[in-house]
Amino acid sequence: MYKTILVPIDMAHVAEGKVNIDLAAKHATGGSKVILLNVVEDIPNWAAVELPANLLEKSIEAAQTELKAIANASGMKMDVVVRTGHSYNTILDVAKEKNADLIIIASHRPGLQDYFLGSTAAKVVRHARCSVLVVR
Ligand code: ADP
Repeated sequence: MYKTILVPIDMAHVAEGKVNIDLAAKHATGGSKVILLNVVEDIPNWAAVELPANLLEKSIEAAQTELKAIANASGMKMDVVVRTGHSYNTILDVAKEKNADLIIIASHRPGLQDYFLGSTAAKVVRHARCSVLVVR
């Protein structure tokens, strides 16, 4: 039913991300494409001075390696995209760029159940042009 399913994964909470990947597999048909996306948040210049060199590059590499391993383990063909930027803006940009017709996103970080929707999830739901499946 869905042609392109985008699954944004927060690398700090990969376990819940895997649940969303399983859901993507259930919503996919033979011709569907599933894209796993992690957004590595930009480090502000004032903070970068205090941090080890190449931290951003290393974070990107680590996210790519981990997402590729998750994709391989899933047994389905999935694309892996890692970008830098603000999480919600970048999720929306990639959804538009890849023509996603479904985004599967967790409602919030584990442990913050008191909030109806986390900040990233809320902005994606509000501004996405396609369907969004919010997983609680
Ligand atoms: P909270 O505000 O409780 O931290 P969020 O709304 O930020 O919750 O996170 C909910 C979901 O948004 C995550 O489980 C993930 O699907 C997505 N998400 C958040 N940050 C990122 C990120 N940096 N890269 C990709 N997806 C993200």
